[in-house]
Amino acid sequence: MNIVLLGAPGAGKGTQAQKLVEEFGIAHISTGDLLRAAVKAQSELGLQAKSYMDAGKLVPDELVINLVKERLQADDAQEGFILDGFPRNTAQAVTLDSELAAMDRNLDAALLVDVKPEVIVNRLSSRRTCRSCGYTAPASVDVCPRCGGEMYQRDDDKPETIQKRLDVYQTQTAPLVEYYRGHSILKEVDGDRPADEVYADVRALLTV
Ligand code: AMP
Repeated sequence: MNIVLLGAPGAGKGTQAQKLVEEFGIAHISTGDLLRAAVKAQSELGLQAKSYMDAGKLVPDELVINLVKERLQADDAQEGFILDGFPRNTAQAVTLDSELAAMDRNLDAALLVDVKPEVIVNRLSSRRTCRSCGYTAPASVDVCPRCGGEMYQRDDDKPETIQKRLDVYQTQTAPLVEYYRGHSILKEVDGDRPADEVYADVRALLTV
């Protein structure tokens, strides 16, 4: 099962991806997580990506595309993958299609987790993330329920950057909904509900 997750930042893509990974054992490829790890490690990629991320802008395509290509070749991605946060624009989507075709693979579904912008702003500004494993939870949670790590507020979840990220989503990423509808693989769920209810719909839509 090869899936692309679409949806605004804070729509709950990561949570749904986690549930799919737990159930199906496929690889979770989150470009945001990979880039944050690169920033933490102060690698060349991390140094190049940091200023874009801090400003809520997209990191240049060639940097992210290379990261994804490499990740798709890894052993754990051979049985299937969930791409979370990629593609973020049409150029990335087109490149993904051609990379997969070259590997004799294809996408089974593009799953849109749909949430209204006003809900997103509240969710993101009260979101905390685990420094160790990337798990997300509301601000009231200060120890990661999954690994015991420290929860912190991502710099780009601060109010000044949230609006910018939503603008970038609307202008660059939202057009992918029509792109995948045109490829007849778009599936949509209402993400403005408790995560387990959203997941029940995801499962029904994927009918695996
Ligand atoms: P996320 O955790 O998916 O919200 O990503 C956090 C930040 O990483 C984004 O605001 C971008 O700066 C960068 N990023 C993540 N995925 C991509 C991508 N596919 N293309 C460009 N930038 C990305």
